[in-house]
Amino acid sequence: MKNLCSFCNTVISPGTSPDDPVSHEVCESCYTRIMRTHRFNIRKFLDMLDAPVFLVDADSNVLVANTLAIAAVGKPDSLVRKNFCGNVFECVNSYLPGGCGKTPFYPDCAIRKSVNETYATGKQVISSSRREYTTLTSS
Ligand SMILES: [Zn+2]
Repeated sequence: MKNLCSFCNTVISPGTSPDDPVSHEVCESCYTRIMRTHRFNIRKFLDMLDAPVFLVDADSNVLVANTLAIAAVGKPDSLVRKNFCGNVFECVNSYLPGGCGKTPFYPDCAIRKSVNETYATGKQVISSSRREYTTLTSS
């Protein structure tokens, strides 16, 4: 997967071959400029989407969730943001000693694997057990 900045076309990650599908994201420089210049509110943007959306970092910590996502988990925003996905979704493993992200089961976590796979391939994981996909982005 080759990733380009949507705003300045900077190559964020080159991919592994010229035939790699292309996805878009925002480079650090554009992100900082947009946030500063336009006082962009990511929560308002995510609320325009007609699906529950959790924006997570590389460690599966929830950075922002839209209103539909907050409603889906039935928790206040303060218990969703800056919390591991497993805690937010109440994964059974999150209750084990060490908690979400620190149990022996974490490397096999279906949520983490699905997020990482989607990030790497640009394809939505429909069922992690059956490996079904649908393409999210390509150009
Ligand atoms: Zn950029």
